[in-house]
Amino acid sequence: MNELPLQGRIAVVTGSDSGIGRAIALALAEAGADVAISFRSKQESAEEVAEKVRAMGRRAFCARLDVSAADTADQYFEAVTRELGQVDILVNNAGIDGKTGDVAEIGIEDWDQVINVNLRGPFICIRKLLPGMIARGKGVILNITSVHEVIPWAGHTAYCAAKAGMAMMTRSMALELKDSGVRVVALAPGAIRTPINHDVWEDPQKMADLKTKIPLGRIGEVEEIARIARVLVSDDASYLTGVTVTVDGGMTAYANFSKGG
Ligand code: NAP
Repeated sequence: MNELPLQGRIAVVTGSDSGIGRAIALALAEAGADVAISFRSKQESAEEVAEKVRAMGRRAFCARLDVSAADTADQYFEAVTRELGQVDILVNNAGIDGKTGDVAEIGIEDWDQVINVNLRGPFICIRKLLPGMIARGKGVILNITSVHEVIPWAGHTAYCAAKAGMAMMTRSMALELKDSGVRVVALAPGAIRTPINHDVWEDPQKMADLKTKIPLGRIGEVEEIARIARVLVSDDASYLTGVTVTVDGGMTAYANFSKGG
């Protein structure tokens, strides 16, 4: 029987109790990886994901991780290494939209919260795991950015700045790591149905507006992101580093230009 593509690999997926992170954790387990699950506030949901991983015959670890708190992150990664072993794959997925508001209106603490979770958080996780990857001469870091690393979004400037920052972090790190055996890739989802944007997909009017922005004419599902993530962290993507792979139903192809001049 052929070996599964991620057989024997150990993966961490941050924010894996929900949405895209949950789907990626399950897809990596399906492909053979042992997976460290984490939650910030929803322990029960995270335990349920860990149980699903174990039911596939893989090992799972589950504990709380707040990526914006460096000391608890240290404890989390030490426990992962103790329980599962050296980490081969880090998926920086945890993220928040943050408070909506124009820059003239939002407070410094609102700005800091988004940057701390969405940009500083991935750095904290990378910093902890990268030395081990370099020492072993292999590893993959997958940063979940957003189409908003390139599409501006009024009222969400901190979010856009953080995601664009994450994309540039991906590219610069890939250069730093060119001889190390460690790949760094970003995956930019378009609009995907998760709890983060339930206010949109639960409102027919907002949904109708959203669809006008998407050439494929529908919101994406988490499995459509997870299937690509699974490939990006596997050896099938061995020639891919320092780049963002966008999975957005064509959103960045500018739907407004599908007709007219
Ligand atoms: P989600 O279901 O809300 O998942 C976000 C996850 O991040 C949750 O598990 C959340 O935990 C966790 N999280 C938040 N703050 C954290 C912190 N400080 N430390 C650790 N974990 C934290 O939303 P999602 O749509 O799957 O989002 C996943 C990623 O995809 C995010 O980075 C998001 O920006 C990105 N993305 C999503 C879309 C989309 O349309 N859904 C599009 C582009 C990019 P709590 O629930 O406990 O806070």
